[in-house]
Amino acid sequence: MANDDLAALVRTIPDYPHAGIMFRDITTLLLDGPGFAACTDRMAAAVVTPPDLVAGIEARGFIFGAALAQRLSVGFVLLRKQNKLPGRVTGVNYALEYGTDRIEMHADAVQLGQRVLLVDDLIATGGTALAGVELLRGAGAVVDEAAFVIDLPDLHGAQRLRSAGITVHTLLHFDGD
Ligand code: AMP
Repeated sequence: MANDDLAALVRTIPDYPHAGIMFRDITTLLLDGPGFAACTDRMAAAVVTPPDLVAGIEARGFIFGAALAQRLSVGFVLLRKQNKLPGRVTGVNYALEYGTDRIEMHADAVQLGQRVLLVDDLIATGGTALAGVELLRGAGAVVDEAAFVIDLPDLHGAQRLRSAGITVHTLLHFDGD
């Protein structure tokens, strides 16, 4: 596969955090300087239209999103877990396998009509990313591209994002998860 060099830097930990989950651990990729740089270079090269801002999803989306924002010379918006941001926030609840979760951003972070590139380390079912899209669009942003290091295509998250009108960029995919 393309980007085999980067795939070799991702460590797979079986049965974490639950039995049956193959956890794709990007901390080993981050430890490799040239690999980390190549990863964000290739994510930046895939972007079709330069955004006004990059938005990263807590926590691993902050790492790749901030690096990408630097590459693109644009600002960075934090999409955080509930009750972490100090200012006035807007938030979206979303369903997990068991229960619900919530992500929030500062209500004044994005200006009406700004183009925002959404970034996370991995897309699985797409629930987290779609909540991010809803949050950003609800604040008046235009979200039509998203970038992830890893896609788990069997969980159809990238397809769900495409159905929401978003061009999805991924470097690696792991099948059968
Ligand atoms: P989802 O909302 O199902 O698309 O899940 C995406 C979020 O959960 C991302 O923030 C990922 O970091 C994390 N995630 C889900 N599945 C895995 C996995 N197999 N390995 C590592 N991270 C995962």
